[in-house]
Amino acid sequence: MQIEDNMIVTFDYRLTDDDGLEIDSSEGRDPLAYLHGSDAIVAGLERALTGKSAGDSFEVRILPEDAYGERDDDLEQEVPREQFAAMESLEEGMEFEVETDDGPMIITIVEVGEEVVTVDGNHDLAGVALTFAVTVREVRQATPEELEHGHAHGPGGHEH
Ligand code: ZN
Repeated sequence: MQIEDNMIVTFDYRLTDDDGLEIDSSEGRDPLAYLHGSDAIVAGLERALTGKSAGDSFEVRILPEDAYGERDDDLEQEVPREQFAAMESLEEGMEFEVETDDGPMIITIVEVGEEVVTVDGNHDLAGVALTFAVTVREVRQATPEELEHGHAHGPGGHEH
């Protein structure tokens, strides 16, 4: 059975950047399960999985435009420190959700100065080329319930 839209795909993966550093991996936990064609995983990986079958292993390098997008320097901004007065501590690398005109957004603190705090609204992996080493474990038709929900059920998917 080859992977196409409306199938549930279960796969193991190891994700590295161009320096070979591991960003994420399914090792030691359940393989990831998702509904193919539902945009549940990055576009480049979904495309690479199309047509593959259970047991297939492959490696694919995905450019930012097909993953988490290019960095947008306008999303890095300096904010007066007093706007963070309610927070007990401020440290580089802290992430939190803020409301913007475009909806909720995760921002990361990149620098804490005396007067201003530099925040970055880019995704952690924006501008990063992603290399996935993938092994497809299982391919099956989605159940009517999964299609209705728009996601995979069971181990590696939604448990509910
Ligand atoms: Zn569901």
